Amino acid sequence: MEEPGKLVIIAGPSGSGKTTIVRHLLGAFPRLAFSISACSRTMRKGETDGEDYYFLTTDEFHDKIKSGEFLEWEEVYPGSYYGTLKSEVERLRKAGRHVIFDIDVKGALNLKKHFAQDAIAIFIQPPSIAALEQRLRLRSTESADFLNQRVAKAKYELSFAPDFDKIILNQALPEALLEAEKTVADFLSS
Ligand code: 5GP
Repeated sequence: MEEPGKLVIIAGPSGSGKTTIVRHLLGAFPRLAFSISACSRTMRKGETDGEDYYFLTTDEFHDKIKSGEFLEWEEVYPGSYYGTLKSEVERLRKAGRHVIFDIDVKGALNLKKHFAQDAIAIFIQPPSIAALEQRLRLRSTESADFLNQRVAKAKYELSFAPDFDKIILNQALPEALLEAEKTVADFLSS
């Protein structure tokens, strides 16, 4: 019988390039499937419910917290809740898939604690706060206030890097992608 699916947890500050790395890994490893999180923030242009996130109202989110439906959840930004549903991870593992997560730093460490050896927690490190700020500004889907909030949060998140199984420095994207691919290949075959 096939071994149960493993968990690849990718975290890092907003603007670190983690979403690009997750997309690359999904293309490189066909058995990997993306864990769709639940969240209470409003849907952005181009997003689809049930694909990017399961979009919930704050009340619905709190009901699911109460009924123990989350493996982990965090108030990632004031008033915006994000969490990993037990049902989502079960759905993918039952289908024989490995699961990849794009979640915040604290959520990542909580999942790692829960799944232990079945999981690898990878931190994507931006070259510097200045570089990160520049990337976020270029992306500029957010207001200045929100951007400052993300930069402040990034500084805080960087302090958790040493708790991860692996840190990948995203200075040059092609190299970071290769390193991520090698790390995941080694983990999935171990
Ligand atoms: P965004 O609003 O830009 O889609 O995501 C904001 C942050 O929430 C990102 O750092 C993302 O990784 C994180 N996030 C997304 N899903 C989850 C989740 O299920 N749990 C936790 N703890 N964080 C999440």
